[in-house]
Amino acid sequence: MTDAPVVEVAVAEPSVPRPMFGAALQPTLAELSRPGRGGGKVAHPPADALDGVPASARRASPLALPELSEPEVVRHFVNLSHLNYSVDGGFYPLGSCTMKFNPKINEWAARLPGFAALHPLAPDELAQGTLELLYELQDALLAISGMSSVTLQPAAGAQGELTGILMIRAYHQARGDTARTEVIVPDTSHGTNPATASMAGFRTVTVPSAPDGGVDLDALRAVLGPQTAAVMLTNPSTLGLFERRIIELLDAVHGVGALAYMDGANMNAVLGRFRPGAAGFDVMHLNLHKTFSTPHGGGGPGAGPVACAAHLAAYLPSPLVVRDGDGGYRLERTGERPTSIGRVRAYQGNVGVLVRAYAYIRAHGASGLCEVSEDAVLAANYLRARIGEAYALPYGGPCKHEFVASDQPIRQATGVRTLDIAKRLIDYGFHPPTIYFPLIVDECLLIEPTETESVETIDTFAEAMLAIAREAHDHPELVTSAPTTAPVRRLDEATAARHPELRWRPMIGAETPCPT
Ligand SMILES: *Cc1c(COP(=O)(O)O)cnc(C)c1O
Repeated sequence: MTDAPVVEVAVAEPSVPRPMFGAALQPTLAELSRPGRGGGKVAHPPADALDGVPASARRASPLALPELSEPEVVRHFVNLSHLNYSVDGGFYPLGSCTMKFNPKINEWAARLPGFAALHPLAPDELAQGTLELLYELQDALLAISGMSSVTLQPAAGAQGELTGILMIRAYHQARGDTARTEVIVPDTSHGTNPATASMAGFRTVTVPSAPDGGVDLDALRAVLGPQTAAVMLTNPSTLGLFERRIIELLDAVHGVGALAYMDGANMNAVLGRFRPGAAGFDVMHLNLHKTFSTPHGGGGPGAGPVACAAHLAAYLPSPLVVRDGDGGYRLERTGERPTSIGRVRAYQGNVGVLVRAYAYIRAHGASGLCEVSEDAVLAANYLRARIGEAYALPYGGPCKHEFVASDQPIRQATGVRTLDIAKRLIDYGFHPPTIYFPLIVDECLLIEPTETESVETIDTFAEAMLAIAREAHDHPELVTSAPTTAPVRRLDEATAARHPELRWRPMIGAETPCPT
């Protein structure tokens, strides 16, 4: 981190930003260290404690660890933790990420010792409770997706995609249909889709969007052919739009013998309203850590189950959880489904995430899950309408769980850019939304309020967005120099990404030298 010069700016009335963070940057433990200071009261070892240890196994000098009192250590880490922005601390409208509030009771459920302490290699007879839960979760996901079989193994959405595409590859190969080398990906798909296709050994073909944000069907038909293995459709797309011509699209894909993959990471937009399997998709993944509880801001763990239609079930990873005729639960045995693509992850995936998803689904019930999608769509459309006064909304019509806005009118009049607006939101106490994604919209903000936010919270955020638009006209320097209240000012993001300083080095003049 660099010491950016501090720019003094006046805070404009009437908007009085409130700071995003309570804490300030913290000195490192090495800097706080004082020789001889210690933690708890541990009796000193007897003088002859080392007598039995050979000289060759003894340290020549004491271990150079920072020396601090216990309160200093605790405060150091607690204050560091306050530098984190979290959905438990404030509104987090990060589009394409679904940073929603997750019920805490699901954390309790996942920590129950019967689940959390179960040995992953416990025999089926001793794991009946967990196996039953996993089996019932499989059933619930089948009802939600409209598919016929599902694996819970993949540890993330992206890994679910890879699993699904490997299943599609196995399907074509089993039919001797080996000339299918391409996967088609619309330009509004999530970035993981083309990455998945490449990882699975396919050539990625991008198709553009029509002016309404949906897939350009003529452009799609032009690239479909006997070389097409699959089309991967993020639905709703990263513009927050549901693909309206889905039946035509699926007919075109199936018409050339290709299969249709749906990226269902954001099922909170369509839960209980749309079942991809019933529509005709062949395989999909769901992000349990977005739609069905589990906080995921720290980057994991997650779960990306893959559900498929009957003609792909033979290729699902093994083992699946099955129920025997006597009502007992077990894992599939080795070789039981010989065409399986094999394991994609150790054991049964991230079981703690699966327990949370099960608890979430059972607590909501079918009608509660319908309310989730209703509220997610209502919140996004409400916020979209509120900020539409000052921001451009490039795609007309209602959105699903998220929407794209652009600051084009503000930029043209003032020169203030999307990045400036995002940084200024920090001064108003909000995590900025996703910016500059999807790439097909110039200078865009991708905003997802989620179904768990109250109208008051959404209003406060909308008012901040509108206040920033006014500031851009009246006091542009306020916006272009933001953030002013965060512990660090605007960072050099290119240098931070290319030359990260991840190791502590003694500061010149520091009282305690770096332990060597
Ligand atoms: C989040 C997301 C993914 C990737 O999921 P991970 O669990 O982060 O790998 C894929 N597609 C879409 C549409 C997403 O929103």
